[in-house]
Amino acid sequence: MKVLDLRCTHAHGFEGWFASNEAFETQLASGLVECPVCGDTAIVKLLSAPRLNLGNAKAPVEAAPAAPSQMPAQQLSPEARWMRAVREVIAKTEDVGDRFAEEARKMHYGEAEERGIRGQATPEQTEALLDEGIAVMPLPIPAALKETLQ
Ligand SMILES: [Zn+2]
Repeated sequence: MKVLDLRCTHAHGFEGWFASNEAFETQLASGLVECPVCGDTAIVKLLSAPRLNLGNAKAPVEAAPAAPSQMPAQQLSPEARWMRAVREVIAKTEDVGDRFAEEARKMHYGEAEERGIRGQATPEQTEALLDEGIAVMPLPIPAALKETLQ
């Protein structure tokens, strides 16, 4: 088994496993070798030390292209992104607790300084605020994050 470092014309590097160099050349000539990223069949072989597949050899992951299924670990999950967004809102707003409706109203009518606030409001309060043209946004805070706040 031969592992070849290959590259398409769009500079996507990837590895191809072939029975032999000849097998690679044959498949390449038949257009059977294609880039796993873009499907390009204009593939060139890069010069590299030949490697044998010994079973316990390191998997050729480092050189693999970033296919969607192999996104880097630092890619955040939707949950993590949401947690970060919520944290940001929390960092930029003042917690007014259950005085939320009252404070939102004061700000709307110029009785209090305009600022970012967060707090609790009942569905009735929220509806009343919206009726008065006061923009409020529900912010479901993940339970895990809520615990760290208290
Ligand atoms: Zn490609």
